[in-house]
Amino acid sequence: MDVSNPALAINCPTCGLLTARFGLYCHNCGYAIWPSSRFASAAFQAWRDADAARRDCRRFDLEPPHGPEDQGEVVDFEQKAHELGIHMPPPSSYPIIICLGLFFMALAAVPFGTPARIVLAILGLAVFLFGVIGWVVVEDTRHFPGFEAASQGAHTEAMAAAPGAAQPTETRVEEVN
Ligand SMILES: [Zn+2]
Repeated sequence: MDVSNPALAINCPTCGLLTARFGLYCHNCGYAIWPSSRFASAAFQAWRDADAARRDCRRFDLEPPHGPEDQGEVVDFEQKAHELGIHMPPPSSYPIIICLGLFFMALAAVPFGTPARIVLAILGLAVFLFGVIGWVVVEDTRHFPGFEAASQGAHTEAMAAAPGAAQPTETRVEEVN
């Protein structure tokens, strides 16, 4: 075993395609590269321990891992949405309350006695409206102060710029925060 060879991948002796050097089988054709899994594992460990720079290498990778900057780009989707003018609703537990209201309203459809159904319908509607108002009116606007004013201003400007295209512009502009 040549531990001085830094490659983690080799060309398979049978199919000639690139495969993990310390894998038991070729990824492409299934050719057994090593006599046994234990043998391949021991070879990999010997290879890895021969150089401190190889300690983060994994056995079935085709190339060694790159630095921490290669761990993928971190994207702030909230920020991205803001830049693109997409209105993101804040995280909320009001949808659960809305579902609860719908549940009670659905129970009102069950043929219980009429007073019970009326009570269920009123209770369900009250809970439902509480959830909708809380979610759409209270919470959503609280997280976006000045949203109304900004969209109103942009709306007016857009209307002045292109009165003919008012309808499509309005839809687009409403989303700009
Ligand atoms: Zn192969």
